[in-house]
Amino acid sequence: MPSTPAHTETSFDLEQALGVLRKVFGYESFRGSQQEIIEQVTSGGDALVLMPTGGGKSLCYQIPALLRPGVAVVISPLIALMQDQVDALTALGVSAAFLNSTQDLDTRRRVETAFLEEKIDLLYLAPESLRSEYTLRLLERARISLFAIDEAHCVAQWGHDFRPDYLALSMLHERWPSVPRIALTATATQATQAEIATRLQLTEARHFVSSFDRPNIQYRIVAKAEPKKQLLDLLRTEHAGDAGVVYCLSRASVEKTAEFLTEQGIPALPYHAGLDAGTRARNQARFLREDGLVMVATIAFGMGIDKPDVRFVAHLDLPKSVEGYYQETGRAGRDGQPSTAWLAYGLQDVVQQRKLIDSSEGDLAHRRKLGTHLDAMLALCETVECRRARLLAYFGQEQAGQCGNCDTCLSPPESWDGTVAAQKLLSTVWRLANERGQKFGAGQAIDILLGKVTPKVTQFRHEELKVFGIGGELRDVEWRGVVRQLLAQGLLAVEGEYGALVLTESSDEVLRGSRPVPMRREPEKAARAGKAAKSPKAKAPVDLAPEDVPVFEGLRAWRAVIAKEQGIPAYIIFHDSVLRQIAADKPADLAALGSISGVGENKLAKYGEQILDVLRAIGA
Ligand code: ADP
Ligand code: ZN
Repeated sequence: MPSTPAHTETSFDLEQALGVLRKVFGYESFRGSQQEIIEQVTSGGDALVLMPTGGGKSLCYQIPALLRPGVAVVISPLIALMQDQVDALTALGVSAAFLNSTQDLDTRRRVETAFLEEKIDLLYLAPESLRSEYTLRLLERARISLFAIDEAHCVAQWGHDFRPDYLALSMLHERWPSVPRIALTATATQATQAEIATRLQLTEARHFVSSFDRPNIQYRIVAKAEPKKQLLDLLRTEHAGDAGVVYCLSRASVEKTAEFLTEQGIPALPYHAGLDAGTRARNQARFLREDGLVMVATIAFGMGIDKPDVRFVAHLDLPKSVEGYYQETGRAGRDGQPSTAWLAYGLQDVVQQRKLIDSSEGDLAHRRKLGTHLDAMLALCETVECRRARLLAYFGQEQAGQCGNCDTCLSPPESWDGTVAAQKLLSTVWRLANERGQKFGAGQAIDILLGKVTPKVTQFRHEELKVFGIGGELRDVEWRGVVRQLLAQGLLAVEGEYGALVLTESSDEVLRGSRPVPMRREPEKAARAGKAAKSPKAKAPVDLAPEDVPVFEGLRAWRAVIAKEQGIPAYIIFHDSVLRQIAADKPADLAALGSISGVGENKLAKYGEQILDVLRAIGA
């Protein structure tokens, strides 16, 4: 062990890198910009990597870690997930370890020794441990091959829990100027990219920005009617037995939804910050380890979750921003298999989010920023164009044409001229304010337009208003759609505790007739369900022939036993996609098995014979 660490420039040998990719990971070729990134870091340069979830970021530091002398230090924010990360590498035959505050002293000492003696290739650390002098001195005594900073957007996001610890990481550059650093994130905005580079002093780093498209995810945004029932329909008709995440805004709705699904026979677990740490850790571990569980969660759940076979992400409430929506939905389908991102959104969501913004802490500028984020999210919800194109455009990426795998592409919504409807609604709000000095929520305005004689209408003598009963051409739900779209377009606003409707500066242009208001028609339910059946669920990359399904199930059952024995998540042994390929190919010997993508040398040696036995037993 050298007393003063020497950092040599390692030259990059493509053949050697490909050898590691094939032998250790069992993959044939690099994907996207992996090769360039690995070359940059292996030869001693810094890199800032923006790549979507499932894009293959881990290899970008794991392969250089194996190629460069010394030990790679990986900064990863979630202590609860370090064990899984290390287990996944161990299963590949790579020696790795982590240090964190949950370990006893003995274990820590053992890991420290292995680190100093270079018995491991990767050491995982939580960012907060780099604020301890003890850890820094430990690092100074070792030969570090590179620093990998995972989830690097933590440094850029205002109010992020891990932000203070991440900000302190700028010292890595000062203390270890010659050790290459690679920062990685799945967050796509240019603002975040710039801020990561500045905050982490990655001034010399090469930036690698991948396409943020996730073609295997089908984006769908539906009008919220009976959200729980709609969710149940989705799970029963399209995702029976699948693992997925359901996001809710509040802890109470997380609890209620999890209970509801469980009552309906769908295994579901709650996760939110109000649960004690033990319960949260247990639920998370079960979600990762067991097949087919649904996690109902607030956005406190999900960062760093590497589970590859999350088949759907459903939102029962409107996300606060497009970034949030993209990150949350991005947790579906890391394995590249078809997956669904489904969001139910309604008028109440807009009212609620505006209320949250109005009552949020922070100055006016901050509230305005939140408002801008919400507006972008609303625009995505109300668009009549391809959702994916919209989403990518938000991140500054172009997409040619229609994607063919989102709800607006699959069943194009009609647009209609909503100008007159908008005028009717806005004049109702105007009359209430100017003739009566009153403000009411959407419900009352709609009752007035529909000419409903409710107790509240009678109480306020609203039947005497000139607009009473002038809106019979639309149904209640359609009027709600009108209000929602006016809110989304900034032609109407809500205020106060009860979401009272008020006019905006732009309302006037509509009332005067100088601004047309195109609107999206609510698709009829039946039409939608019919179209949804055409969804490309059947386009799975390895679509199993019916006779291969029992083989796949047999392999899965074998995997479940092994996972249980070893106490690791099933996907660490083999992903579903690998088992599918094995079921389809039915390799007759080890050589044939080893040539399947995702079967590396270590796993072949460890599980190869067992798999061939399973195949023989099933008679495949
Ligand atoms: P990210 O961290 O970017 O979300 P991962 O590193 O977890 O993505 O990779 C996503 C999946 O893609 C993993 O199952 C990984 O093993 C697989 N993968 C990564 N690189 C390749 C490659 N070159 N060929 C085939 N599969 C790959
Ligand atoms: Zn589309």
